[in-house]
This record gives sequence, C-alpha cells and structure tokens, in this order.
Amino acid sequence: MTIRKLNSFISKATCSYMVVEEVSNYLENAGFIALNVVDEWKLAKNGRYYVKIYDTSLMAFTVGEKEGKLRIAAAHTDSPALKIKASPDMLSEGCTRLNVEGYGGAVLHSWFNRPIGISGKVFLKGEDIFTPVSMKFDSGEGIGIIPELAIHMNREVNKGVEVSIAKDMLPVLCTGTEEEGFEKYLASKLNVSREDILSYELYAYICESGEITGLNKEFYVAPRLDNLTSSLACIEGIINGNRDEGINVSVLFDNEEIGSATKQGAGSQMFSMVMEKIYLSLGYSRERLINDYFDGMMLSVDVAHGVNPNRPEKSDNINKVRLNEGIVIKTTGTYAYDGKSISIIKGLCEKYDIKYQIFTKQSDSRGGGTLGAIADTMVPMSTLDIGVPIWGMHSAKEIMGIKDQKYLEELVKHFFSE
Ligand SMILES: [Zn+2]
Repeated sequence: MTIRKLNSFISKATCSYMVVEEVSNYLENAGFIALNVVDEWKLAKNGRYYVKIYDTSLMAFTVGEKEGKLRIAAAHTDSPALKIKASPDMLSEGCTRLNVEGYGGAVLHSWFNRPIGISGKVFLKGEDIFTPVSMKFDSGEGIGIIPELAIHMNREVNKGVEVSIAKDMLPVLCTGTEEEGFEKYLASKLNVSREDILSYELYAYICESGEITGLNKEFYVAPRLDNLTSSLACIEGIINGNRDEGINVSVLFDNEEIGSATKQGAGSQMFSMVMEKIYLSLGYSRERLINDYFDGMMLSVDVAHGVNPNRPEKSDNINKVRLNEGIVIKTTGTYAYDGKSISIIKGLCEKYDIKYQIFTKQSDSRGGGTLGAIADTMVPMSTLDIGVPIWGMHSAKEIMGIKDQKYLEELVKHFFSE
C-alpha cells in the first residue's frame, strides 16, 4: 500500500511544479487550508494550513492548542533533469530535436533509450504586463527519446565514454522537421495561441512508471526516488501527526540539486520569513520565534547511499547501510547532525519499532550533501539528516527496498505526534 501510493505520487510528480501541485491535492483532501503568501494571515490555534511559494516550494503547518516545541521536517521537490532552452527546436537529419541543458547532476548515460516526457509551467500574455498568466503543463506521455550510439560506432563504450549534453543528450521529438514545432505543440496542448506564449520553465523527465522486482519482490525501481520518497513522507507525516502542542512544519524546498541558493531554495530566507509570518499572525513575538528555533528540531529528509553489493569498497568499512534494513541516520561529512538530534531520533525509532541504521561515508571519498546543513546556515537549529537507502542515486531510475518507505513515513508521523 505504501509503495503503491509512492508509485502513484511519482507518476504524477514529474518536476517540482507537479510535486507542489500533487502535494497540494493531498493537503486539501486532508482539510488543510490554502494560504496565499502575499496575504495578511489570520491564523488560529488547532489550524492546519499550507502555502505554495513560487509554485515549486511549499510549506504545510499545524498549530497546536497548547504551547510546545517547534518541529520541522524538510525535503526537496526537484530531481536531476534536462531543462528545455528557449527556441529549442533543432532541425537536422530529417528529425526535430530539443535543445536542452543539464539540471543537477544526472547520471547522463542512464537517460538513453527511454521515453521522455515534458512538464513544468508556461507563461502567457495576461491583461496586465506585470501579471502574466501561468499554466502548468505535463505531456503525461512520452513525446521524445534520446537515442544511444550503437556499440559499432563507439567500440570503447564499455570502458566509460564522455557524454556531452550539447551533443548526445538532445531528445528527438519526431521524424520530420517543422519550424517552431515545439511551441506549436505546446500551444495546441494548452489550447492557446502560440503568439501568446511569452516564456516557460519546462523539464524533460523520465516517463516510465515504477516496478517491483527481486526474487521476493523486495526492490522497487522508479524515477525520482530522490527526493519524492522524502517529500511524500514529510506530507504524510504532517497530515497524520497528531501533536496538540507546539507548531509542526513540513517544508519542501526547490533547487537542492543545483545548490539551494535560489529564492525558493533552502539557502534563502524564504523559510524564516514564512515562519515569521506564522508567528506574527498568531500574535507571537519575533523573540519567541528565535527561542523556538533554538529549542526546536529539524529533520532534513533525503535519500542515502545503500552499499552496492557489486562495489562494497565504495562504502565505509563499518557503517554500510542496506536496503530494507530501515531508515538511515547520516552522521558524516557535510550532513547535518549532532548528538542531541541523533539521540532523539534513535529514541523515537526504538519506542515505535522503526528500523534504523547509521551511515558514514568512505573516508577517502568526498561523500554527498543535502539541504539540511544549508538550511542550518539560515536558521541555526538542531538538525538531523535522514532518509531511505537507495542504489543508483541520480540515475534515470533508482532502486529502494520496499520496506523502507513505511519506516520513513512512520518516523515522520511520530516526530510530529510525540
Ligand atoms: Zn536529494
């Protein structure tokens, strides 16, 4: 059931816009009230609210009846992708291709020979120049493919061959050539005139659904596990958390894959400004917010590297983490962690029989990082990086253990209930 829900989420959440769109539906269905970030808010105790920020980030929060500590769970809405450039049609060899650039650190060769969809947002002329009309767009089906070169044309391919985005990664849309074919396609799908399209933020995504595999059906393989596993857990957690004291917040940031330093990323003041709006609207002081930051806790949720049984030497000598063996607590390198936050999460896991494992990086490797430590530079809170272990991070399709999503969702729920 948990994996079925994750699979349905992944099939709809094809880029950060569509993640926010889908998550908003879940929150609406759970009775959360939508707020507009530019309004003056009138919040009340026992309220459940959410606010979209620039349509690719979102904060959902609940206000308890009684006073209590601040709890925050954070994840990111974006995944590595290919971003469609302006005037993208490239007509050559009797085909129409799309000009793209890389977004985040995709394992590029894994994108070859798979159906490619396009999703994001399109901006159109409005009544007023300063208020263009925006429309979400998702092709919802494969509309292109990136063909790999045959081994006969590339004999060294299995020794590792450089992949050029500008040359090798351009999705082929169709045989036949048509000037401005892509914008004509967009206009017809959106039922608007092509002349009204001013701009767009569109991404190529892997248009394949997830699958279960393994002798005992123990592996789930799907696109965008990084970081839809965590986004879903943060939202399910805040919906199902039932603490009646303090404020619970789930925040989904955009742009983690390109370093978080954007207006809607973890490296901006977006989060702290919205928190200030929440506190002021409830009649609380700014000093109280600062006190709550210092006394509260943040869970930063993102995928972790499971040990690859074909390449165990790439993981730490001792602290290797395995698929289906529980959530991963990252206590290493540039991740966010401290003794207090580790102890709290271990305590919750032990109380509620949630399996967990400790991850440390292989000491000669640089290791990974995520938004937890970046968010901490904006709001200095006790923070712990956790997530489900996966194989093949940043590949077109990533692999997780089918048991681990349940452990993660249980943990975030109890974090918001205890
Ligand atoms: Zn991630």
